[in-house]
Amino acid sequence: MTTKSIHPETLVLHAGWRADPTTGSVAVPIHQTTSYQFRSPEHAENLFALKELGNIYTRIMNPTTAVLEERLAAIEGGVAALAVASGQAASAFSIQNLARAGDNIVSSTDLYGGTWNLFANTLKDQGIDVRFVDPSDPENFRRATDDKTRAYYAETLPNPKLVVFPIAEVAAIGRPLGIPLIIDNTAAPILCRPFDHGAAIVVYSTTKYIGGHGTSIGGMIIDGGNFDWFRNKERQPMLNTPDRSYHGAIWAEATKPLGPVAYIIRARVVLLRDLGAALSPMNAFQIIQGLETLPLRMERHCSNATTVAKFLSGQQGVTKVIHPSLATGSARERADRYLHGGYGGLLGFELAGGREAGVKFIESLKLFYHVANIGDVRSLAIHPASTTHSQLSADEQAMTGVTGGYVRLSIGIEHIDDIIGDLTHALNAAQTV
Ligand code: PLP
Repeated sequence: MTTKSIHPETLVLHAGWRADPTTGSVAVPIHQTTSYQFRSPEHAENLFALKELGNIYTRIMNPTTAVLEERLAAIEGGVAALAVASGQAASAFSIQNLARAGDNIVSSTDLYGGTWNLFANTLKDQGIDVRFVDPSDPENFRRATDDKTRAYYAETLPNPKLVVFPIAEVAAIGRPLGIPLIIDNTAAPILCRPFDHGAAIVVYSTTKYIGGHGTSIGGMIIDGGNFDWFRNKERQPMLNTPDRSYHGAIWAEATKPLGPVAYIIRARVVLLRDLGAALSPMNAFQIIQGLETLPLRMERHCSNATTVAKFLSGQQGVTKVIHPSLATGSARERADRYLHGGYGGLLGFELAGGREAGVKFIESLKLFYHVANIGDVRSLAIHPASTTHSQLSADEQAMTGVTGGYVRLSIGIEHIDDIIGDLTHALNAAQTV
């Protein structure tokens, strides 16, 4: 893009692509190809040796996917991005790119259930210890740190608690120690730009708001280019010691001519190469279609959710409503500091009737879909205790804020009167149990 616009409304439409030079195609073409013809043996050799950047094989890069990567990096204010097959792959890669067996990371307890499982079980089995800390006191991150700590990890707007994470405070603890803060910004695209507050890496499930249409699973890792991987070399050995899988390349040095992209290049040419969680070009195209309307949709998600939060607060049988628009004290201060343009589309509430009322409420909805997803244009509802968080122990559920009567809503962009109408009807039904 020739213009230096930083307005997300413009970047979602123009960053990374301007009409195909050969065909004039305005929409980003779907490059549904596995491989790319090399111009000569020398060209092929240069590409493999990373002397020249270019397409080799779609597991590692693809021109359609590259537009999505460049566009999201521009919106976030980052320097480069790597698209992967799902949000889960993005979270896993974001850690595996820095930590290996014997290392640890410190993570907020307030996490999506799937990320919790990845951290508490799969990464643990791989020898990476994840230390969970309560984010209400940022100093908990420092307390859990030792010389094997490679990263801090958190979600901007974690559900179900929906208390905004203290990004700047925790990033400031990590930076002098050489520890980057990785932020999952899935629930707050456009509303929050974590790099502006000191985060080093942003991950997304693009399955959610970024796609919005609910057609395609995808994930993204974005490098802020704002972290000094050299400052404390012992702290980040995977970027500062020779990589035997790449002729002994030291990534922080080998990538210097390309800019501050050591982290994201390693993720692409080592992790994506070896673990293979590539996004399909078709899904990249679909996610680009969604991304183009993201700022408009976020406005409506936020305004609808704020209205629903007010509505639910006055309802009989509802003991608690959780939405940042209703937060008070330090939680409200954080919401106002980190979220701009609205308080997000996710909302939780507690039914006095407990688990039974929760189940009745869900089965009585007619407009809301009962699905394990968030961030769709349609309104969605789920009962986490019996679904998304059911693989967690009772203690773990409590730690992540899930109780029997808790219902999570992802408010869509339908007309607000229809949303309120469906909720009214389901609440009435839930009162009958
Ligand atoms: N991060 C958050 C905050 C999520 O809500 C989810 C999925 O619900 C994920 C990551 C995982 O994303 P995906 O389902 O695309 O693998």
